[in-house]
Amino acid sequence: MAKIPMKTPLVEMDGDEMTRILWQMIKDELILPFVDLKTEYYDLGLLNRNATKDQVTVDSALATKRLGVAVKCATITPNQQRMEEYPELTERWKSPNGTIRSIVGGTVFRAPIVIDSIKPAVKSWKKPITIARHAYGDVYKSVDMYTTEPGTATLTFKGESGAEKSVEVQTVNGPAVWQGAHNLESSIRDFAKACFQYAIDTKQDLWFSTKDTIAKVYDGEFKKVFEEEYENYKAKFEELGITYFYTLIDDAVARVIRSEGGYIWACKNYDGDVMSDMVSTAFGSLAMMTSVLVAPDGTTEYEAAHGTVTKHYYKHLKGEETSTNSVATIFAWSGGLRKRGELDEIPELVDYANKLEESVFDTLNDGIMTKDLAGMVEPGYTATAVNSEGFIKAIRERLEKKLAQ
Ligand code: NAP
Ligand code: MG
Repeated sequence: MAKIPMKTPLVEMDGDEMTRILWQMIKDELILPFVDLKTEYYDLGLLNRNATKDQVTVDSALATKRLGVAVKCATITPNQQRMEEYPELTERWKSPNGTIRSIVGGTVFRAPIVIDSIKPAVKSWKKPITIARHAYGDVYKSVDMYTTEPGTATLTFKGESGAEKSVEVQTVNGPAVWQGAHNLESSIRDFAKACFQYAIDTKQDLWFSTKDTIAKVYDGEFKKVFEEEYENYKAKFEELGITYFYTLIDDAVARVIRSEGGYIWACKNYDGDVMSDMVSTAFGSLAMMTSVLVAPDGTTEYEAAHGTVTKHYYKHLKGEETSTNSVATIFAWSGGLRKRGELDEIPELVDYANKLEESVFDTLNDGIMTKDLAGMVEPGYTATAVNSEGFIKAIRERLEKKLAQ
C-alpha cells in the first residue's frame, strides 16, 4: 500500500521520560508504516534544552508560527528536585509550554476523550465538554496588599498624555486587604477570536460566561468584545448550524451540570483554572485529556494534557513492564495530521487521522485498555489490561484493517 503523502512538514516537539518512549512507539507502529511523514524535528527533551540553553524551545515555537501546526510531547519543567536529579543542568529552565505560549500566543482548549464503558461522574454528560481558558491577566497578574489602619484606597491610572483617571475603591475603618487587577482589550479580543475560530473548526456551540452583573465595567468589557467579534463569525456559525451563547457564570455552571456536553465553554482566567480541573476530573482521567493551543491567526499546537508520567518511566528503566495510556498523545498526532491535511488539502491524510482515532475507540470499546482505564470501567463492560506496547499493537491491527478497506 502506498504511503499517504504530506506537503508541508509538521513541527514535531519531542519530550521527556515515559511520554518520549510512547512518542517513538506511536511513530513506529501507527504513523511511519502508513504516512510519508514530513516533520521539522525539535528535541525538547530536558538535556537538549540544557545543551542549547533553551534555544531549541524558542526555535520550535518560531517554527510553529512559520509552519502553522505543531505536535508536542510532554516535557519536564525542572523544579528543585529535578535540579538534583540532573546535576548537569546549568539553569532551572522555564516551562517549555510557557515559552511556546508566549511566542505563539493564543488560547488553550482542553477536551476529554469519552468512551462508553467509562461514565463521567455527571450522569447526563454524553459528549465531551471543551474548556477554553483565557490565559492572561486578572488575578494571575494582580498586585495585592494588606493595610492596618482606617483609611481610603483609590485606584489611579496615569495616561502617557498626562491625563489621570481615579476611582475610590473603599474607605475602611480597620485592617483590610486590597487587590489591583487588569486585563488588556487586545488579549480579550484575541481570546474571543480563538474561541470563535475553534468553535468553527470543531463544529461545536460556544458558551461564554462572566460575572458582568457585578463587575459591570471589567466583565462587561469581556462580554462586549465577544459580542463585537461574534459579528465577524456569525455568518459562518449560521452556515454550520452552531450557536454562540452568553450567560452569567452562575447560570453557566448550572446548565453545564444539566447538559449532555458537546460544546466549548469559554472561561475567564480564574474560572477556567478551576472549572477545567473540575470538568476533567469528572470525566475520569488525565490520560484521556487533550490540549490544543490555538493562536488568533490559526496557528495550532496539539499535545496531551498529562505530564511525562515519571513513575512509569523509572519502572521502564528498571526493565519492568509498564501500562501507560498513550491515547491523549495519539490524539495529539491525529489532531496535528488532520489539521495539516485540511490546510494542505490532502483528503487521504484527513481520512487517515480519522481512522487512527476510530481505531483507538474500537480498541477501547473492545475492552483492550491500559491499567489506568481498566480499573474504571462500569459494571457490564469487559476490560483486559494490556501493557504500553500491547495497547499500541492492538490499535495498529485495527488501523491496518480500516486503511485496507
Ligand atoms: P503526570 O506525568 O501527568 O503523572 C501523574 C500521575 O498520573 C502518574 O504517575 C500516573 O499515575 C497518572 N498518569 C498521567 N498520565 C498517565 C498516562 N498517560 N497513563 C497512565 N497514567 C497516567 O504528572 P506529574 O507526575 O505531576 O509530572 C511529571 C512531569 O511532567 C513533571 O516533570 C512535570 O514538569 C511534567 N509535566 C509536563 C506537562 C506538559 O509538558 N504539558 C504537563 C504536566 C506535567 P500512577 O503513577 O498512579 O499510575
Ligand atoms: Mg488549576
